[in-house]
Amino acid sequence: KIENAKKFQDIHVEAARFYFSNLTSCKNFGYEYLRSRGLDDKTIKKFGLGFSLDSWNSLMDYLISKGYEKKDLVESGLITHKIDSNKFYDRFRNRVMFPIFDYRGNVIGFGGRVLDDSLPKYLNSPDTLIFNKRQNLYGLNFSRKHIENRTIVLVEGYMDLISLHQYGIKNVVATLGTALTEQQGILIKRYVDTAIISYDSDEAGIKATLRAIEILTKLDISVRVLNLKDCKDPDEFVRKYGLSEYKKEMDVSTHYIKYKIDRLKDKFSMEKDEDRVKLAKEASKIIKKLKSPVEIDYYTKYLSKEIGISTESIKKEIYGKHYNKD
Ligand code: ATP
Ligand code: MN
Ligand code: MN
Ligand code: MN
Repeated sequence: KIENAKKFQDIHVEAARFYFSNLTSCKNFGYEYLRSRGLDDKTIKKFGLGFSLDSWNSLMDYLISKGYEKKDLVESGLITHKIDSNKFYDRFRNRVMFPIFDYRGNVIGFGGRVLDDSLPKYLNSPDTLIFNKRQNLYGLNFSRKHIENRTIVLVEGYMDLISLHQYGIKNVVATLGTALTEQQGILIKRYVDTAIISYDSDEAGIKATLRAIEILTKLDISVRVLNLKDCKDPDEFVRKYGLSEYKKEMDVSTHYIKYKIDRLKDKFSMEKDEDRVKLAKEASKIIKKLKSPVEIDYYTKYLSKEIGISTESIKKEIYGKHYNKD
């Protein structure tokens, strides 16, 4: 099994070289695409970005010429075997390729993006002997050397992470669109005490943020959420406003309790009394989970100000009848 893992890793290194040379040797559409998204040659090289040709078998032919067996190529996830027609073909075709590394820097999988609006936008390697999506964080091999103040930024996508790196924000990891898992949380905990979530600002991003908050706070990681203003994701933000603005948003990022209260405010209308009561009750439950008296006091005041209910009654809601004013 260990032998196989070694072999699969060698296959991935060869594949990454092949994709990289496709991209850089002939400066094709893939290269144009990445340049049009603002990436420079240095970044393309650092992240080993590549291109899978618009052909059914180019990678397979290359790897077979290197002496690898079809069976291993299929098991490594790079070649697809259609059982009914007994045909083999390259999983990734006509896509820009992002090698996925483990925290040591070994290539263990790939993500591939189409060059236009066709679907699926991204295709990723399946889980294999050497690749487990739920246990891996994209970019950790680069970021772990750049952790500052035991803080890390969490983003959704390849492009977010690579773009931030190019602009100079290097303590970043990406969860690649899937919901943050507990294993990933544990991995983060090894390196930092604080996580700044910077997921997309769309509905899916908000949902994923709320879930990530639960996972990270359970692990005693202090969590903040970054505000992307009018932008849909960190890549767009940093390209539009630049490094210093993004850093500023990191500095003023929102404490997760405030973020959760604000999301409740989006959910309930503030016009109807009963909605405001519901909001007060839901938000009180959130505040109740806090351990620090200072934090409880601070967010009680925040809530009171936001919905116009006295801190007194919010504290009663939190502590029940036994609440004693002093
Ligand atoms: P881009 O800027 O290139 O459009 P993005 O990173 O902003 O890409 P999102 O749609 O926000 O794209 O997705 C975030 C991440 O989720 C992607 O980087 C990718 O890892 C993953 N992802 C997105 N779509 C898919 C898909 N159809 N299948 C698997 N993973 C996906
Ligand atoms: Mn998204
Ligand atoms: Mn994007
Ligand atoms: Mn996005």
